[in-house]
Amino acid sequence: MPHCPECDATVDIEQDEVEEGQILGCPECGVDLEIISTNPLEVELVEEEEELDEEEADDEEEEDDEEE
Ligand SMILES: [Zn+2]
Repeated sequence: MPHCPECDATVDIEQDEVEEGQILGCPECGVDLEIISTNPLEVELVEEEEELDEEEADDEEEEDDEEE
């Protein structure tokens, strides 16, 4: 069974359940993994090709702390 290249967790997939090119999420860390080969079963980290602006987006989330 293949291992997640990101967190090294075992990726619990069966060879006959997936096909090449399929994207699935790592059950442990949640990264996108692409099936690059089914025999042997191999997965590869999907690089996100998002073009980000030079300035990083502010990641501010306002959380409402609701106290009862
Ligand atoms: Zn992982």
